Amino acid sequence: MLNILDEKMYVLEIIANGFQSKKWGLELFILAKYNRFLKNMSKKDCKDDLIEFCNRNISDYNLTDYYLTLKKAINNAYKKDAKLFEIKSIEFLSGELDYIKNLAISPKSKRLLFCLLCCSKINELSHQSKFWINIGINRLKKMNSCASNSYTVNILHELLSNELIFINDKGSIYLSFLNNSFTGSPRKFDFKSVDEFNTCGLWWEKYVCKNKRVIRCTTCNELIWKLSNRQIYCNDCSKEKVKKKYIKYNKKREQVK
Ligand SMILES: [Zn+2]
Repeated sequence: MLNILDEKMYVLEIIANGFQSKKWGLELFILAKYNRFLKNMSKKDCKDDLIEFCNRNISDYNLTDYYLTLKKAINNAYKKDAKLFEIKSIEFLSGELDYIKNLAISPKSKRLLFCLLCCSKINELSHQSKFWINIGINRLKKMNSCASNSYTVNILHELLSNELIFINDKGSIYLSFLNNSFTGSPRKFDFKSVDEFNTCGLWWEKYVCKNKRVIRCTTCNELIWKLSNRQIYCNDCSKEKVKKKYIKYNKKREQVK
């Protein structure tokens, strides 16, 4: 399962600020693909560029230590079927969404099934098997906005007993209904960030189930569960507002003294 949906955006981050994670091999691979596809670099120029990048961004850089990582990243990036991914949206057919919506299972299970469908669409766009989804329970929990891992496992059991999914011995999930042929008008899910994709259950609630409790934060536009009638901000923005309020309040007090 891909963690980086828009590799072009990700590379710009790497170029500007150095490595973004501890997965240097993966990041060098994406950087090499960027050099190949968007900067039309030859394999040799790409190698020089990556060595230079490592020199700049690894404090105790030593070419022999990183030789294999670099070689693997560049070779994979210059393979025939390599591709730089820029996945910013996924498309559904109304028939697909209606199929999930009309199943006789609990609303939370429908939401989880939708999350799995989103993962399968991403797999398809990145040329992996659309049927088999390799995803951790933590990520699935976040996608489905569920409170606990055990709850998410319970939902998976419900989907299993309804034969909507199968799980293999490696823990990968197979979506059985993808063999159905769906029709209907296309519906697009545009996500502005990986975060928005990673909480795709909220999109399902807002745009498919028309759940009024899911709103967009007035400040940052993020999709959120509304916990009270008056709530208009997400957690982060609301904390920021409170902080600003107190700064203002303290300044006033200073002035009175
Ligand atoms: Zn916000």
